[in-house]
Amino acid sequence: MENKIPGLHHITAIADNAKRNHEFYTKVLGLRLVKKTVNFDDPGTYHFYYGNEAGTPGSILTFFPWEGIGQGRNGTGMATDIGYSVPKGSLEFWSDRFKQFNINQYPLSERFGEQFLSFRDPDGLQIDLVAAEGEDNRKPWETGDLNASAATKGFHSVTLTVKNIRATAEILTDIFGYHLLKQEGNRYRFITGATDHAAIVDLLELPDTPSGRQGAGTNHHIAFRVKDDNIQMEFREKIASRGLNPTSRINRDYFYSVYFREPGGVLFELATDNPGFTVDEPLKELGSHLKLPKQFEAARPEIEKVLPVI
Ligand code: ZN
Repeated sequence: MENKIPGLHHITAIADNAKRNHEFYTKVLGLRLVKKTVNFDDPGTYHFYYGNEAGTPGSILTFFPWEGIGQGRNGTGMATDIGYSVPKGSLEFWSDRFKQFNINQYPLSERFGEQFLSFRDPDGLQIDLVAAEGEDNRKPWETGDLNASAATKGFHSVTLTVKNIRATAEILTDIFGYHLLKQEGNRYRFITGATDHAAIVDLLELPDTPSGRQGAGTNHHIAFRVKDDNIQMEFREKIASRGLNPTSRINRDYFYSVYFREPGGVLFELATDNPGFTVDEPLKELGSHLKLPKQFEAARPEIEKVLPVI
């Protein structure tokens, strides 16, 4: 029985315009598009997966670009901030780069002894580049103008904003095996000892802040890693025994998913490491073809017609 979750698997957020989203994440932030598919529940909409070369768990940021969805608003009951790990000494480079691309950014800041640079993506999604304390030996995806001296290495952390941290903290500690590492004001840093990377969840307690509203520029859910289906079902049992109504296991083609809403209001997912993104495309071609789940393959011509050109 595995009793600790080995960190984040992916984070899923909402965008408006697909082309703008694709350009920002591949060109400005320098991530690799590792899968171009559709929303399995809404196949007229893309589902983009960005990550490192192979889309390793802990590096994957995914988007549903819904044209015209309208702006969301950060608030309680949602993930409000994504942290990416970047090399020490690279934050000034990033700040210059964001200036060059007219990206909204904030002055360099420090939290828990680590320097970070906050910015907003073109839809307003809040992201921090964190010059992480310890050594981060993950191999980054490099592009023509972003090499290993600056490229992102995958997630550092995610921040969940809740009115009261207690019940959410109990899920992290009692079920997922995280522990409280440090506290700074109303920010509580939890970490799992089961991995060195994407191991941090910060809980930000804001009792008087209204609930967030999902829309462009907000996060939809966060997924935690489980090694395989058996371990996923063991965690599902623990979640069910707390009366949290997890879904049954859903096949997402690249992983298997179980969802539940944690008591603070954030949608959580448990996603398996298997089978991964090379299940339907070779590593060097990841993201270069529109991949459809088999239930939609017959409708490919219609789907291709409605999806925007990116
Ligand atoms: Zn997900």
